Amino acid sequence: MADILEGNAATARLPRRARTKTGFGIALPAAGIAVAHLLPLTLFYTGTKWRDWMVFAGMYVPMVFAVGAGLHRYFSHRAFRTSRTFQFMLGLLSCCFFGDPIGFTGKHRLHHRHSDTAGDVHSPRQGFWHCWFGSLVDDGLTEEEILAAASDLTKYPELMWLHRYFWVPAVALMAVILAVGGYTMLVTGYILSWVLITLHGPCTVNYFCHRGTSRNYETGDDSTNKLWVSIYLLGEGWHNNHHHYPGSARAGFFSGEIDPLFSILRLLERFGLIWDLRVPPEHVLESGRRDEKICA
Ligand SMILES: [Zn+2]
Ligand SMILES: [Zn+2]
Repeated sequence: MADILEGNAATARLPRRARTKTGFGIALPAAGIAVAHLLPLTLFYTGTKWRDWMVFAGMYVPMVFAVGAGLHRYFSHRAFRTSRTFQFMLGLLSCCFFGDPIGFTGKHRLHHRHSDTAGDVHSPRQGFWHCWFGSLVDDGLTEEEILAAASDLTKYPELMWLHRYFWVPAVALMAVILAVGGYTMLVTGYILSWVLITLHGPCTVNYFCHRGTSRNYETGDDSTNKLWVSIYLLGEGWHNNHHHYPGSARAGFFSGEIDPLFSILRLLERFGLIWDLRVPPEHVLESGRRDEKICA
């Protein structure tokens, strides 16, 4: 028990899932990640305009929302309900900034199912590089596994279309930004923010929120809560709470656990765009208060 509570991530090294991608399947995303990191360096040569940085700042909330509230809380965990139209809009937003709902959902649900065991898609116990980058390039999942894990979403043809053509909304958005503001706006406003927020953001959760000892609940995995991650990703750092009760639209359960994404969801609820937001029941909160004393 003490071993589990005191950061067992440091103890046992786990094997990775066997590779399921080869050749272009690995080279393409790896090249994309490398180029995305190199392009912002060209800004030292080209210079930037103030409006490029306005776009950069304006991308922050939509990008975090697309991944944290859209892909994660809605598609993966069905933490609230919405119309089919708004569901598709969330799917489009997700594809603009990160990836398609079915692909993310399949991968993420399998992370929850096998957290910090040999079957995990991205556990820090499988090594830093695999957790941070490797699982983006080759997650070790087959298409069949992903579709089976997201079977409630595959019945929507429009989501299957996004699964097949996930790159279309992102390319369209990049073309618009390029047409409006040129190269420097594209690289500052989209590429740089993509690297800093939607690429490294989820990787930060995957790694740092599965290490350490800051926990409210004994979950049987290595999940932890991190305030600094919640500041960076608007509430997504309460990952131990989340692993204990994944179906909640609210990730910050207790006072001081800031959760701006939940505030945005409440606002959307007020506008009638989403409804039936799930929150942790009292017995879940009560057991957290109790476990807090054990885990501290
Ligand atoms: Zn996790
Ligand atoms: Zn989750």
